[in-house]
Amino acid sequence: MEIRRLKSLLKKNKHYITKPRLRLFAVLQKHPALTVNQLILLVPKHDQATVYRNIALFEELGVINRLRLGWLTKIELSDIFQHHHHHFTCINCGKVITLPDQPAIEKNIKSMVDKQGFKAMDHQLEIRGYCPRCKELKRTKSLQSEPVSS
Ligand SMILES: [Zn+2]
Ligand SMILES: [Zn+2]
Repeated sequence: MEIRRLKSLLKKNKHYITKPRLRLFAVLQKHPALTVNQLILLVPKHDQATVYRNIALFEELGVINRLRLGWLTKIELSDIFQHHHHHFTCINCGKVITLPDQPAIEKNIKSMVDKQGFKAMDHQLEIRGYCPRCKELKRTKSLQSEPVSS
């Protein structure tokens, strides 16, 4: 289980297994991608400094990735702790949706990189557009403001 992997990673790097760390991890497991502010709202029992410190620690240990979504940065668990996946981000409401597996895309990315003589370690793929709800809003012309572009 992932939680066991986290515990052994913390121990191996001489960090304590603390309740705030386990709770932060649990929140990240439940949500596909969160901004730091959203994360802080979901871990209300702890002071911000602890959350910031633990985010930095998780980043250092490779537990999390930072997703750069235009001008926004979101945090999610790295591929070590969850199944590798790609994202769809709605440019209107900011919702991040995990896309279904596409083994053919993974294979194509790998062969493209191999052909260039690189050794890939990981990758992120993000598709931006409108989620079904925002697409419908846009269609019915009730979408007042222009989408935020990056
Ligand atoms: Zn949307
Ligand atoms: Zn991929």
